[in-house]
Amino acid sequence: MTDTKREAPASLEKRAAALEIVLRRKADMPKNFVAEFTEHADDAWITANGAQMVARAWTDPEYRARMLVDGTAAARELGFEFPEHHRTLVVLENTATVHNVIVCTLCSCTAYTIIGAAPDWYKDLDYRARVVRESRTVLREMGLDLPATTEIRVWDTTADTRYMVLPMQPPATIGWPCKSWQQS
Ligand code: FE
Repeated sequence: MTDTKREAPASLEKRAAALEIVLRRKADMPKNFVAEFTEHADDAWITANGAQMVARAWTDPEYRARMLVDGTAAARELGFEFPEHHRTLVVLENTATVHNVIVCTLCSCTAYTIIGAAPDWYKDLDYRARVVRESRTVLREMGLDLPATTEIRVWDTTADTRYMVLPMQPPATIGWPCKSWQQS
């Protein structure tokens, strides 16, 4: 009879360190690769990138139109980068009647170079399973109580299609001065 008892897995830190050793040996990974990758991720892949796209869309109707047709090109227009496997960035526009929700039911994919690293709740099994079946209830539990008349659209991320939401502009910000794109 097979002994099905298994030892508890090592800590996340130990498993990451073991993976790093193997990659360094087998894949000829440069010595500082992990440190430099982490530093780049912390500095360059930040939520401010997506926020900059949103601010521009709110103040530049032509950019907004381009962004809704081709999010990848609109992000590149502002100098943002994508890993090779993020082939398509789709920008979803919230309106008075439609609220968009993003999930990765399989794991935790996001357009992280544009909207930053996924928060813990996004990776949570409960969120990933329930937001598809009972999105209105899940949003309410998270503090967003949408009227029954608002349609909720849930978008499931895939390896090569990533999403970001263009929120509605808060009325108080309409007419605020904006950056150089309005002067050029
Ligand atoms: Fe995923």
